[in-house]
Amino acid sequence: MKIDKILPFAKNLLQKAVQPGDIVIDATVGNGYDTVFLAELVEESGHVYGFDIQEKAIVTTQERLVKYCLSDQTTIFHSGHEHLSQLIPDIYHGRVTGAIFNLGYLPGSDKTIVTQPDTTIAAIQQLLEIMAPEGIIVLVIYHGHNGGAEERDSLLDYCQQIDQKTAHVLQYQFINQQNHPAFIIAIEKI
Ligand code: SAM
Repeated sequence: MKIDKILPFAKNLLQKAVQPGDIVIDATVGNGYDTVFLAELVEESGHVYGFDIQEKAIVTTQERLVKYCLSDQTTIFHSGHEHLSQLIPDIYHGRVTGAIFNLGYLPGSDKTIVTQPDTTIAAIQQLLEIMAPEGIIVLVIYHGHNGGAEERDSLLDYCQQIDQKTAHVLQYQFINQQNHPAFIIAIEKI
């Protein structure tokens, strides 16, 4: 298959937006796979700020970062991403070049603890304030679980209404797959 699947497409976008030395955000660290990917992109001179509301996700992510010797270039907050502009140091406002939201529930954990549209949208609004021009936010949207369809619809409504002078907004989706395939919304700040 030549067309990029969803996760490789997400990674390609972030690779284009993020350089060594940059400040980036993993808005939902979960098991830490995206945090490791971002920490490797920014290298030792950059920094990843990660967020999750579950203790289990924080512990797993921190263990993974230690294993890959990436702890120094990462800060993981046990906090919702809706508090990101408060928690990311002011000196980095205007310098964030990439962010990923892998939405839904933590794989292998409680499926009732899921991302919520209001807090996801609040975080996107804050990011649009503190990102650098050409910074990219990637939303990976899973919508097969309880509450997933509502989150999908709220995010699509919100993202379709972002002023085209503020950001370029893309939807990337396979439209002939069964069982609620994940899709991407990418937002590039202008
Ligand atoms: N990116 C992760 C990885 O690489 O393993 C997977 C993330 S998982 C699909 C979604 C995560 O979002 C869960 O761990 C959940 O606890 C977290 N979450 C839910 N609401 C949140 C919020 N308001 N702020 C930050 N994280 C949240």
